[in-house]
This record gives sequence, structure tokens and C-alpha cells, in this order.
Amino acid sequence: MNEISFNELHKYMEQYGADNSIGDLTPTMCDLFGCQYPAECGATAIASVVDQAFRLTGKEGKMEKALIFCPDAVGDIHRQKYPEKLARVEKLAGFRFRSTSVMPSVTPVCFGTIFSGSSPDVHGIKKYEKPVLKVETLFDMLAAAGKNVAVISRNGCSIDKIFRDREIDYFSFRTDAGIFEQTRKLISDSDYDVIISYFMDYDHLSHRHGPYADEPVAALETAVQYFETLVADADKYWANFDRTVVWAPDHGNHIIDETSGGHGTNIPEDMVVNHFYRIRSKEA
Ligand SMILES: [Zn+2]
Repeated sequence: MNEISFNELHKYMEQYGADNSIGDLTPTMCDLFGCQYPAECGATAIASVVDQAFRLTGKEGKMEKALIFCPDAVGDIHRQKYPEKLARVEKLAGFRFRSTSVMPSVTPVCFGTIFSGSSPDVHGIKKYEKPVLKVETLFDMLAAAGKNVAVISRNGCSIDKIFRDREIDYFSFRTDAGIFEQTRKLISDSDYDVIISYFMDYDHLSHRHGPYADEPVAALETAVQYFETLVADADKYWANFDRTVVWAPDHGNHIIDETSGGHGTNIPEDMVVNHFYRIRSKEA
């Protein structure tokens, strides 16, 4: 347990009265798959997720498949504004965890924390930049445990760049539709154990038009539809595997002026998100 990471993650949890940090994803996945935690992890595994996996499968650390869907900039504020959309995610997932982001609340800083369990002071990305992360990540731990991992993202985006040089496979696309189709393909016909699938358009269109303009809201609807389809694919093609599907955004966003939106500040709209987990056991 890295104390600097622990204290930095807890600072924001306390500020916003949240029980979870976005960094909790890494130790949670490590417990599900029976891996060691990254050396610098200061986050905490989500006990109710790990317990549910044990209840359903009767095994500890033996999860067989996971899909982690990462819709950029979808915060708790969007659940408040569009409750019917996020209710569809919650209905499929079952578990929702109100979680705090980290500062500055920009994409590489936050995904650095999500996939390492370490805080910005420890993982080293403390502004909008995309160096390859030096600290141990979830991907290193999964690879060391012999798991086959695919990261499917936008060409040159944060997720595409900061987790390079690991023993995993990278798929880069120019569009979210390309990412989505590749994700469906790998669920249906590959032997990947863990698949990361990124969704950029909500964030991208929010910067350009403002968070609540028609264009980004249509992209948010697309993200929810993609999640619904990917859950159905996982149930169909991974029916014979114990499996997990996660909805894991990095931060929220806020209105900057009439035609633009952004994030990066320490306010509730940017800092509070929801991570959703769906756990299913193989068909007997
Ligand atoms: Zn982002």
C-alpha cells in the first residue's frame, strides 16, 4: 500500500463524501483475477464486487473474462441530468459506485490513476501530457499473471499512449465506431481475457459544443447503446466464462460558456463519477 497514493485519493473522497475513488478499479480487478497489486497502488478493492464474484462463482481470484468500457467525461452530473440514460447502465450492471476523480481532472491524469491505483503525485502525470507511465499498472499485473489483454482506443489518445510498452496488445482507431466494432469482434472471436474499450465522442463534442448540446448528448446516448450491445455480446459469447463488465469513466465536465465545455478543476461536475460493475457466472 503506497501511503502517498492512499492519502491523495482519500483527500478527494473526503472532499466529496464518496466511498470510492476511480483508482479502486485496479485493486478490484486484481482481486477478481487473482493478481498482485501494482507496487505503488494506494486504492482499495471494492469489497462488494469481490464478494459478489465469490458468491456467484464459489471461487476467489478466478474471474475469466472482463470488458472495461471507458466513456470519457461522463460524470455523476450526467446521471443527474439524464437519469433515464444512466439508469439503463445501472440496470444492466447492478452495482454503482460513486467515485472521485483526481486533480487535475484531465484524461491522462485520471486514466493513469484508474489503471494503476496510484495517485498523480505517484504515477507522475500531473498535467495534460501523455508520457508512457513508469509505475506498475493493472496491465503489468495481468500480463505477469499470464492474462491476455487488449486495449482498444482512439489513435493517439491518452489511453493509447500512456500504457505502451506493456506485454499487451494495442488496437488504435480513428473513430469510436471502429473501436466498438473491434471490441465486438474480440469478444466474439478472440481469447483475450481482459478488453479495454474506450469511447471519446461525448468528451470531444462537449469541448466543442458544451456538455448539454444536442451533439454530445447524442454521443452519450451512443455510449449507452454501445454498452448495452457489448453486455449482450459478453453474455452471448462469454456465456461459458465467469465474467465482468465495467463502465468506468475518468472525470465529468462542466459548462465553460454558451458553446463550450471542459474539465480539469476541483468542482463536483468534474470530480464525481460513477463506476458500474456487472458480475456474471458461467452457465453451469
Ligand atoms: Zn477524459
